[in-house]
Amino acid sequence: MNAPTPIKPPLAIDTLVLHGGSFRVDPATSAVAVPIYQTTSFAFESTEKAKRISAFEEIAYTYSRVGNPTVDAFEQRLAELDGGVAALGVASGQAATAVAVLSLVQAGDNIVASRGLYGGTVNFFRERLKQFGIEARFVDGDAPEDFRRATDDRTRLYFGETLPNPRLTVFPIREVADIGRPLGIPLIIDNTAAPLAARPLDHGAAIVVYSATKYIGGHGTTIGGAIVDGGFPWADFPERQPLINSPDPAYDNRSYIDLAAALGGPIAFIVRARAAIVRDLGPSLSPQNAFQLIQGLETLPLRLERHFSNAAKVAEFLARHPKVERTVYPGLQAGEQRRRADAYLKGGYGALIGFEPKGGEEAALAFIDRLKLIYHLANIGDARTLAIHPYSTTHGQLSPEEKLAAGVTPAFVRLSIGIENPADIIADIDQALSGL
Ligand SMILES: *Cc1c(COP(=O)(O)O)cnc(C)c1O
Repeated sequence: MNAPTPIKPPLAIDTLVLHGGSFRVDPATSAVAVPIYQTTSFAFESTEKAKRISAFEEIAYTYSRVGNPTVDAFEQRLAELDGGVAALGVASGQAATAVAVLSLVQAGDNIVASRGLYGGTVNFFRERLKQFGIEARFVDGDAPEDFRRATDDRTRLYFGETLPNPRLTVFPIREVADIGRPLGIPLIIDNTAAPLAARPLDHGAAIVVYSATKYIGGHGTTIGGAIVDGGFPWADFPERQPLINSPDPAYDNRSYIDLAAALGGPIAFIVRARAAIVRDLGPSLSPQNAFQLIQGLETLPLRLERHFSNAAKVAEFLARHPKVERTVYPGLQAGEQRRRADAYLKGGYGALIGFEPKGGEEAALAFIDRLKLIYHLANIGDARTLAIHPYSTTHGQLSPEEKLAAGVTPAFVRLSIGIENPADIIADIDQALSGL
């Protein structure tokens, strides 16, 4: 539970998904699969221990809102995979973003965020943060210097998405992180669309958030999220980051820097996220869902290989199809956008593709209605191939200007390519296009 991750010989990513973290076998039964510890509470060994644990002088499980062994196994594995110092599992991707941001901001503060974000994140930043007196300043994610220009003394964090859909232009992680670091401003990256393929902490990001609902779970069965802490030097910036550096009356007037030091690692951020925000707001990941997400994580590298190679084939097919006006896919981009895709994505260009059939909105809607194999639904990262018309659904509540900024035109169709046989995916797309 946010003890620093154990030191092990370096293992490859596709080994770590199975072996990462301190879990080896269940200490009670020697079970090899991570058991589902379906319990709310954990008994204290003694009153003395209870006192030390409650004072944060010692880590132990007490109550599953704050920590649970199944969730812990998921957290440790993910932290190790991303090169983080610790992680926190939460109830959803939305909870991951909300908890990460609320760990750092209070009334009067502001954040600077890319405009290229998931619709739910835009709403949270624009409408919900406003409720707490926090301002979100949106800038062009392709223009790193705009982050600097929007920054003032009350800016507490920067936020971007590795591979925002549907525009699919990779975020300049290093460039924006380097603007923030000397100022004490961490970059939070939503890496939902490119887990394992992109490693934002290696490129200067301070914190990574995930909707584990998507590729990590991978089977469209489970809502969940996670935050990975990269170990930012918070203590060097006491004025910029007061919530991490100031005493918290809820913990005996100790700061999160002090609490983290007592626990033995540079984990002040994730300790605050867990011990203040999740403890007090309550969006914990359930042990059942953590178990499902562990199953997903264990085969993620294999599935990603197939997701990515299928997507490359479908993108190529669409780009050459006479009924297709435009195909959006990082592997088809040129110039700076392509440079970033190559710098930040390894092993493929993701599994999301956008395209516009000839014939505008009417053709896009007819295409989706004609699909037989591909599911029409509002999700990404499922093992099954999915399609949606963002203009009238996922992005329907945005203004026309916001839709355009997000790359959502009336004719735009978004595909999330699954792991079926690629010939069957292409055949379904082909038959749907041929009827237009
Ligand atoms: C789905 C998604 C979210 C929200 O995740 P939930 O698990 O649905 O709460 C956040 N960011 C991105 C990029 C997403 O695709």
